[in-house]
Amino acid sequence: MLDGAADALIKIFSMGISVYVASIELSAHLHPFPEVHRLMSFATRVEKCTAVCQCGADAQLTMSKVGIVDRLTIGGDESYEAACWRCHPAALELCDAVTYNAEVNEGILNA
Ligand SMILES: [Zn+2]
Repeated sequence: MLDGAADALIKIFSMGISVYVASIELSAHLHPFPEVHRLMSFATRVEKCTAVCQCGADAQLTMSKVGIVDRLTIGGDESYEAACWRCHPAALELCDAVTYNAEVNEGILNA
């Protein structure tokens, strides 16, 4: 989403005009898009839809098919594919880190 798009849409909404937005929330690197998160703070309704991962599970994430990409590299299905948390490499790393931290914290709490 373009810089300033959230403020422009919020302004339009404040004028009594209904605004519908469809967007992904996270980059292929799992970084949130700031404009989308700003807009979601003002949303009166949010519906999250999923695609289908190559494994058949619900896919909430976007994965690059062409290796490392810049944060704002625009592309279609030639460049990106939907992925679930189990099939997305960055999500797996994130889950491993969360599991590790939970185990460490549990160890601290039980010590
Ligand atoms: Zn999957």
